[in-house]
Amino acid sequence: MAVVPSALELFLRVWPAIFLVDLGQYVVAAAVMALLILVAAWLGFGPGPIQAKRPKGRDYSREIGLSLRSVLIFSLNGFGIYAAMEFGLVAIPLTVEAAGGWVAIVATFIGILLAHDAWFYWTHRLMHGPAMWRRVHQAHHRSHVPTPFAAYAFGIGEAWVQAIFLPLFLLIVPTHPGVISLFMLVMIVRNVMGHAGVEFHPAIFAPGRALGWLTTTTHHDLHHQTGRWNFGFYFTFWDRLMGTEHPDYAQRFLEARLRKRPLGAQEAATR
Ligand SMILES: [Zn+2]
Ligand SMILES: [Zn+2]
Repeated sequence: MAVVPSALELFLRVWPAIFLVDLGQYVVAAAVMALLILVAAWLGFGPGPIQAKRPKGRDYSREIGLSLRSVLIFSLNGFGIYAAMEFGLVAIPLTVEAAGGWVAIVATFIGILLAHDAWFYWTHRLMHGPAMWRRVHQAHHRSHVPTPFAAYAFGIGEAWVQAIFLPLFLLIVPTHPGVISLFMLVMIVRNVMGHAGVEFHPAIFAPGRALGWLTTTTHHDLHHQTGRWNFGFYFTFWDRLMGTEHPDYAQRFLEARLRKRPLGAQEAATR
């Protein structure tokens, strides 16, 4: 029995569904966020854009093009995980009992978020180094004024860096499919929020307040503006610990929340 035809058969049977799920996740999350921004602006509800500059049509098309290529890479990675499961290389507990009960499931969910945040922070720091910046990470930073469609706007190398986290985690920690699905949901929602360009987070997210340990849109927007601060994804603590949090983050966040009109060009030039 040849292994190759059966692997090919498995690919043709499973990969299209994985691709559609990955594609749907990106398209729905980015489109819903973009729609929320439009509706909020139309109703006069919520703050104005964080930056004075506005994204151009070509920024949207570049972000969407790069993101679709990343979706293709993520779906190949997803198929790799599925195949590893089929061939018994990765153990996925399919019932609550097999996953060790609800406490273990909740602990795994918290663990995957902490691990992903650490993976993101440290690979991100590495990608800003001279060895990887131009070839791996610069594509993402072509979005100086990010839009929700920049969520997956990565170069090929960075798409693989982002993709490979999940199989590595699953190799080490047996993870219930429900935890994987919830993790993917939280990841894409926080991702499109980080690139929204408009600050919807309430004041409780300000540094020093009750939810100050979670990132905001201003947090990641400042990363796109400066390219040298705020490397974290979900949490602010790595940036605090490593001294990479933008010195004016708290002030910029509170200003962005209250801004009712785009930042004036003159005001922006003094920053
Ligand atoms: Zn970004
Ligand atoms: Zn970066």
